[in-house]
Order: sequence, then structure tokens, then C-alpha cells
Amino acid sequence: MDFQLSDELLALQRSVRRLAQDKIKPRAREIDTTGEYPQDIFDEFRKADLLGLCIPPEYGGSGAGIMGLAITIEEVTKYSNVLGLMLLLTRLPTGPIMIAGTEEQKQRYLPGIAKGTHRAAFCLSEPGAGSDVAGMQTVARDDGSGYVLNGTKCWISGGMQADWFVVFAKTGDPASRDHTSIGAFIVESDSSGVTRPRVDKKMGVKGIDTTEIVFNDVKVPAEQVIGGGFALVMQSLNAMRPIVAARGLGLAEGALMYATEYVKNRAAFGKTIAEFQGIQWEIAKCATEIEAARLLTYRGAWLADQGCFTKEYVPMLSMCKYYASEVAVKASGLAVQLLGAAGYMEEHPVEMFYRDARQLTIVEGTSQIQLGLIAKGVLGHDLWWD
Ligand SMILES: Cc1cc2nc3c(=O)[nH]c(=O)nc-3n(C[C@H](O)[C@H](O)[C@H](O)COP(=O)(O)OP(=O)(O)OC[C@H]3O[C@@H](n4cnc5c(N)ncnc54)[C@H](O)[C@@H]3O)c2cc1C
Repeated sequence: MDFQLSDELLALQRSVRRLAQDKIKPRAREIDTTGEYPQDIFDEFRKADLLGLCIPPEYGGSGAGIMGLAITIEEVTKYSNVLGLMLLLTRLPTGPIMIAGTEEQKQRYLPGIAKGTHRAAFCLSEPGAGSDVAGMQTVARDDGSGYVLNGTKCWISGGMQADWFVVFAKTGDPASRDHTSIGAFIVESDSSGVTRPRVDKKMGVKGIDTTEIVFNDVKVPAEQVIGGGFALVMQSLNAMRPIVAARGLGLAEGALMYATEYVKNRAAFGKTIAEFQGIQWEIAKCATEIEAARLLTYRGAWLADQGCFTKEYVPMLSMCKYYASEVAVKASGLAVQLLGAAGYMEEHPVEMFYRDARQLTIVEGTSQIQLGLIAKGVLGHDLWWD
């Protein structure tokens, strides 16, 4: 067992840490305030070759894997969670293609993401079906030469910027919960019948919109059909757990570091508040939870990079997403409290961290859904200690 990152990953971590401090830290609040898409930072990521970390070299990426992407996101989210999301979106919609796509689909859709000439989004959730994936109502009808898509997807991150989407739909009766009737389809955003009628006004993670996307008789040619069934939905999400976890991990680290520096300088009762044992214990508990989240996240990333994201690995992967996102909420809440009134104000980033953290326990499977998956794994002995 080796707890040390490889030399390559350490070098990546160092260079992203510098980029985050120089370019992201000074921009984070402005992005949150204006809510405008930060194209300048996308360009920085492109220049630094960070958009293809999880894409294999044969498709134009650097092949740093989920571990490389997780470490990068951890650094970036110390200052800005929305920029962590920007990087996450290089993996979320490309995942189903990497797992189950044809060679032609990989050649056609992956290099553009790695080079930063194209963007994509992942369309799973619907107004009536979020956690309950099998309850989706979007339908793909086989017309002999491909499929015709009809339905509405919602809360789609990066939907406005996306050049193409991976859309999940049912190929049979929408009322059926038959897992094999779910398939994945690549849809180009300029296809006839695709509209984006609405962007949401949201609490945090501002700067990358979530979008409603409507598919009205959208023709999907046979070469853009991935298929895959419900298993592909789950494998795609399982492989993403460490990447979402990394967003929580970095946010928690950023919040605790900021609050720690603050309490060392804030005087009360004739000393700094950092000198009170009650404050120290809160810092110590939070630091311990961050390190536990880091171990779960790195192990999850390591597993996913070995291709271990099928059913038997679900508990390990769900644990890292569940735990790191809950730690993010806790750490950012603590940071607000440790700063007192100052923590509630926009002069400090901790209120933004807190708003952003609340997203993480909801997206890509809520905390309750992760707990259900972990429990199922223990009950079925996928995770057992004997
Ligand atoms: C900012 C943001 C970005 C997003 N980006 C995307 C995206 O890019 N693509 C995409 O497809 N989706 C996206 N989503 C949607 C997200 O994945 C869903 O919100 C999530 O899966 C939960 O679904 P829901 O909101 O419908 O909640 P519901 O399923 O309605 O759940 C509501 C509550 O009930 C609980 N609950 C539900 N079922 C159970 C159960 N069996 N046991 C216990 N509790 C349960 C949930 O935990 C939750 O607390 C995004 C959401 C947000 C907020």
C-alpha cells in the first residue's frame, strides 16, 4: 500500500495549485456575483491542458484519469466550486461514451472536449424523475434508421454552453420500469427540435447555468446511439462519485483554511479566538473529517481508474461522494460560524462556500440515495469485513 501520489500527480497538483491561487482565487467572487459564464477561466484551463485529463491520449486527452481530475478539482474548489464543475463537465457527459460508445463515437466526440473546442452536458434528470431514474418519461422511438426523441430534461449543468448532449431515454413504454429499455443517445445541440427554453435562478454554483432542455421529435441517427441500459446510467454515475467528492473535499479545505487564518487574527476577551479550546476542537474535528474524506475520495478515484465502477464497488464509490459532500456542508457551515457576522457577509468567501456546498449533497444522487446504495451493498455483502 502506497499513500504517496506519483511524481506526475504531484507535479499536476503543484501546477494547478499555482493556477488556482493566481487566476481563480481573484475571480471567484466576481463569477458568483455576475453569474456570467467564466470563458476566461475556460481558456486558462485549455492553455494548461486541463480539459482532457480524464480522456485517454488516443482521443486527444492526457490520460491523467479520474485521479488526475479529482486532484485538479480539489485544488480549484479551494476557491471556486463552479470552476470545479467546469472541469467535472469534461467527464460527466464523456463517461457514457468512454464506457459504452463505439470507436467512431470516441473518435468523433472526445477530442473536441479534450482540446476545448467543444463542450457537452449530461441529460438524465426530468421534472418528474430525479432520484427515481427509472421513472423517466423521455422516449426514443426506433424509426428504422435511428431514433426519434421526445421529452424534457431539467437542471442540466452547462446545458446552454453544450455543443452536444448525452440524453437518456426509454426505448419502450415510458410507464415500464424495465431496466433494459433505457438507452443513451448523443444529440447535437443544433439538431432540429432541440430547444433550451429556460435557465434556473439558483442558490449557488453561479456562472454555469442549469438549463431545461426540450426534445421535440429530434432525429438521432443510428451512429449516435450508445444504448447501454440502466446499467450504463449507474456505471456512468458510479465512476463520477470521486469527482463530485473532490468538489466537496476542496471546498471543505478552502473553507477551513480561510476560517483558521481568520480566528488566528480575531481578538476577543483579551486573546485571539484561536486560543479558545472550544474553537480549536472544532478545527481539529473538521480537519480530521477532511482527511477521512480525502482518503475515501482518493481510494474511489483509484478504483474508478482500475475500471472498478460496477455494482460490487458501489458502496466504496457512494461513500466518498456521500461523505465528502456532507463534510463540505459541515466545514463551510463551521467557517461561517467561526467568522461570526463577518462570515455572513460577502466580504468573505465563506457564505459563498456554504451556498455552493448545498448543491453537492443533491447532485448526481442525493445523500439519501447514496446511503441507500451503501446500505444495499452492506446488506448484500458487496462490502463486508469477514
Ligand atoms: C445545481 C444542480 C445541477 C444539476 N445538474 C444536473 C445535470 O447536469 N444533469 C442532470 O441530469 N441532473 C442534474 N441535476 C439534477 C440532480 O441530479 C437531481 O436534483 C438529483 O438527482 C435529485 O433529484 P430531485 O431533485 O428530483 O430530487 P427528488 O428525487 O425529488 O428527491 C427529493 C428528496 O427526497 C429524497 N429521496 C428521494 N428518494 C428517496 C429514497 N428512495 N429514500 C430516501 N430519500 C429519498 C432525496 O434525497 C431528496 O432529499 C442538477 C441539480 C442541481 C441542483
